[in-house]
Amino acid sequence: MTAGGARSAEKVGRRVSTCAFADAIARVSIAAHDAAVASLPDPERARLSSGQTVLASIVVRDGRGGGGENDRARVRVVALGAGTKFMTSSSIDSDARGVRVRDCHAEVLARRALKRFLYAQIDIARARRGTVADARSCVLERDARSNRWSIRPDVTFHMYTSSTPCGNATVKRWARGAKEVFDDALDESTPPPDAKTHEKPSFGSVHEGQLAFTYKRDPTALEDDGGEIRERGGGGGGDAAAGAAVHITGRLLSCSDKLAVWNCVGVQGALLLCENALSSPVYLASVTVGRKFNRAILRRALCCRMHRFRGTDAISAAEDGTAAEPRSRVFALNHPGTMCTAVPFDVGTYAPGEGANFDRADALVWWEGRDGGETRELIDARTGSRSFPRGDDDISGGLFARRRVTRT
Ligand SMILES: [Zn+2]
Ligand SMILES: [Zn+2]
Repeated sequence: MTAGGARSAEKVGRRVSTCAFADAIARVSIAAHDAAVASLPDPERARLSSGQTVLASIVVRDGRGGGGENDRARVRVVALGAGTKFMTSSSIDSDARGVRVRDCHAEVLARRALKRFLYAQIDIARARRGTVADARSCVLERDARSNRWSIRPDVTFHMYTSSTPCGNATVKRWARGAKEVFDDALDESTPPPDAKTHEKPSFGSVHEGQLAFTYKRDPTALEDDGGEIRERGGGGGGDAAAGAAVHITGRLLSCSDKLAVWNCVGVQGALLLCENALSSPVYLASVTVGRKFNRAILRRALCCRMHRFRGTDAISAAEDGTAAEPRSRVFALNHPGTMCTAVPFDVGTYAPGEGANFDRADALVWWEGRDGGETRELIDARTGSRSFPRGDDDISGGLFARRRVTRT
């Protein structure tokens, strides 16, 4: 774990894991992060190896295993992001074309990386049409009904985040925490069977902001004390603690809120549901958290507070205007499994009298690509520009976008 040697923020003594699966997800994610950092050339590697950050990833659980008859399901990291910062309001204002990466919180970057992974997967699936020779790593299959691509039924997507998502999930009110108990009946490739059954929570404090969406606090914006949710003691660190739930002072939704939206409409974004792409939305099967986990609060924040979301039934031909058959593009509220892990991402200790130092503006994005091409980027989270690799411009995704355009 040399690449992570400078991380030094976690007290792990009292942390308990939910199960071996949660720990396996954390371990492969941290290893993938460290490998991505170690693969960078020197000035960048040195920068990324200092200070603290938050890591989030998307792990695929593939029921097909590695190929053998008695193979257990495999888990592999396909996307990850590390970062704690976002663009200031004034930088956002100056980005008239909307080409900068506004939000470099880890969960947002991991989801950005996942979208790139899915694009690469569609490329793989198209290239192998009619053959399965190189299909081991492909998570897609042809959906004959819609003539699009769908996720194979034995594949699920699992998020890991080294710290609980900022916003609602960090508001320790309106719920009681129960102590986690490690379930040692489950092996490393088996998620808890009841992971997706969430008890109906009580929403008796809606007017105090129990279900409210919140914004990432922009430290350069004027303080607005009209908000009702404010994390106590959240001053000073600004956005850096990735945990401040503050009302209205910024413009970017908290990660809890974004995750809540993704649990309604999927993590794939609108473009990947277009013609020739995915047949249905992609939902997270579970979320595993390192620091500051509270199951009841996490469930409220990520999914259960969206209980009024109606979803859509298959879009009818009349509405859609194109298909003769109703499409299977169905949205429905997803309740992911919620797990915690005691596997530490930050391995050292604080210097006496100091807290974690989250000052680093570099954010890392990595994804599993198609064929040895560049699949990582560094983004300067304050400006939203790509700082590595350097190309003709500094727009994240620029290289990727050009590649796609020239091919079609
Ligand atoms: Zn966040
Ligand atoms: Zn739920």
